[in-house]
Amino acid sequence: MKLFPDADGRVDIRGVCFDNVTEDTASAAIIEYAKKDGGDTAAVFTPNSEIVQRCVEDRTGELYGVINSAALIVPDSTGIVKAAKMFGTPVTGKVAGVELGERVLRESAKEGIPVYFLGGKPGVADDAKAKMTEKYPGLRVVGTADGYFDKTGAESDARIADIARSGARILYVCLGAPAQERWIYDNRDALTAAGVRIAMGLGGALDVYAGNVKRAPKLFLALGLEWLYRLLREPKRLGRMTALPRFYLGCRREAKKSKPKKHRAVKIMILIAIVIGIAASAAAMIIDSFVRSAADGRIVTVDQAGGLDGVDLILVLGAGVKKDGRPSDMLADRIKVGVELYESGASDVILMSGDGAREGYDEPAAMRSAAIDSGVPDAAIVCDTLGLSTYESILRARDVYGAKKIVIVTQKYHLYRALYLADKFGVEAVGVSADLRPYRGQAFRELREILARSKDFLITAK
Ligand code: UDP
Repeated sequence: MKLFPDADGRVDIRGVCFDNVTEDTASAAIIEYAKKDGGDTAAVFTPNSEIVQRCVEDRTGELYGVINSAALIVPDSTGIVKAAKMFGTPVTGKVAGVELGERVLRESAKEGIPVYFLGGKPGVADDAKAKMTEKYPGLRVVGTADGYFDKTGAESDARIADIARSGARILYVCLGAPAQERWIYDNRDALTAAGVRIAMGLGGALDVYAGNVKRAPKLFLALGLEWLYRLLREPKRLGRMTALPRFYLGCRREAKKSKPKKHRAVKIMILIAIVIGIAASAAAMIIDSFVRSAADGRIVTVDQAGGLDGVDLILVLGAGVKKDGRPSDMLADRIKVGVELYESGASDVILMSGDGAREGYDEPAAMRSAAIDSGVPDAAIVCDTLGLSTYESILRARDVYGAKKIVIVTQKYHLYRALYLADKFGVEAVGVSADLRPYRGQAFRELREILARSKDFLITAK
């Protein structure tokens, strides 16, 4: 039975399943259960790093069974909180058993829930009762007993009988860990029969409530050095505390073990991405040189083109037009070479093909007016405003304007693809380069053109 049934709220620290709770939520759940009738005694354990390490080192695994049987397990040490973070499953924070116990006393006083103090040297539970009833008026400590008794024999049964008689619903069991957890676990049925709703294992809490033992100063608590304070106070704890570095090292080892898996997965993904990247680049390079080879021997001069017979049209491919409607440098050069070709007699038709389909943007119109300004008669110019790409321009030259033999004008980097496409579409073509000057941003354009060549290669592949 769990006070918080949702398993997602639990964090596994080296095999101990802690509830990710705060002092508020834990005490509220304890009080709520203490008020209800029916069901088994709910054990509340507050293990620290030392106890978790004892579980790890217990070869029989029995202690795990004892600890994990609890209805609520709160992380009572900074070590547990740090380990949770190390494993990537952080908990809200430390919930100190002593403080949770006192909080439950305060709430029990308000609700009138009877409690019983078991543990500590003779007199400690009584002192704790006196101090706490003074501090929390209304608190009903209905019984006390010291913790020095035979934990498995008749003395233990007698303690339980006394608890049953007291009518306590919440039992504070302060016998030291893990003796108190074992005692609660071994006697769970008897405690249920005794009417105990909640049994909390709280170590030296009664000593603190009795005022015999001070809690570590705030500075030690804030620095996570409560263990050091306790060691200075009780040097005999040294043996027990050797568990702490073992706990820390064990957590580090386990955290590392789980991390490499993640790393390995990421590494494999990066490797796959690199391989795909290299393969794609290699493919693009091969396609690129193949497309470029289509232009071999087909890039000619204006004069050579002027000597050709039967050319249906000079196809000038569009390019950017400036905001003021004038052609960009690149386009101006294409038009200039187109005009030279017209003058050299290559053909008596110039097809200005470009993007003119958008509102307020018309490449072919800008091309036409620049050509007219250079002396080409209007009648010799045909505009195709749907030449939205190299592919479209050439295909439409063939299908819409009936061209079978053409001279294509554009810059050389672009001419390769244009000639390749013309070939693919069965149009006889030569190209004349319009590189009359260097152009800004050409490196980027060349790079983009490699991708464009691959794209047109793929879409024309049969
Ligand atoms: N104790 C007890 N019976 C025993 C052994 C110990 O009642 O047979 C008490 C002891 O007097 C002390 C508490 O258990 O009040 C253990 O306190 P400690 O701070 O050592 O708790 P731990 O760190 O072991 O949880």
